[in-house]
Amino acid sequence: MNELKIFHYGDPVLRKKAKKVKQVDDDLRQLMAGMVETMVEEPGVGLAAPQVGVSLRAICVRELLSRDEDEEKDEDDVWGQTWCLINPVITKRSKDTQTGNEGCLSLPTLLAMVERASAVVVKAHDLEGNEVVIEASGLLARALQHEIDHLQGILFIDRCDKDTLAWMVPDEEDERGYRLDPTTMEEAVERFDRLRQRESKQ
Ligand code: ZN
Repeated sequence: MNELKIFHYGDPVLRKKAKKVKQVDDDLRQLMAGMVETMVEEPGVGLAAPQVGVSLRAICVRELLSRDEDEEKDEDDVWGQTWCLINPVITKRSKDTQTGNEGCLSLPTLLAMVERASAVVVKAHDLEGNEVVIEASGLLARALQHEIDHLQGILFIDRCDKDTLAWMVPDEEDERGYRLDPTTMEEAVERFDRLRQRESKQ
């Protein structure tokens, strides 16, 4: 197992502007393999290197094909392609926007509505050093914008509608399997401070 430790809200690494990757080498490939594994394990739609404590411009994202959480469903039917992107840059963003619920593995179980461009074009390099161009819309476009924000030290709570902040709480009585308990930024910050205190004692 290659799973990496996720750094949580309050850690300074999440607020740093990440450095450009100068060379794609085996160390970086190993880091990205660990990031992909961690993203799959959590599970998440994306992960940025600062979230595993590495302040470099590298992200991984994957495409969600179906939100249907039918247990019979094969993993391959739910998840599409995975990308590892080095030095990703948004070269184009649509004027029209999408607003949807967003969360982050560095701020576990917190959700809020975030307005993002509906579609983006991202240029980056892959792990072989080749240039890649991704034209994305929908959730993949949202994930790319969210992860590239991480490289600037920007988190979704900086962009969200603060009135929609909520905890995702498992709830068998709800048909989604969870309910949303409204919260405030102050309460969320307090909870993540406690989480980090617990982690530092481990
Ligand atoms: Zn995130």
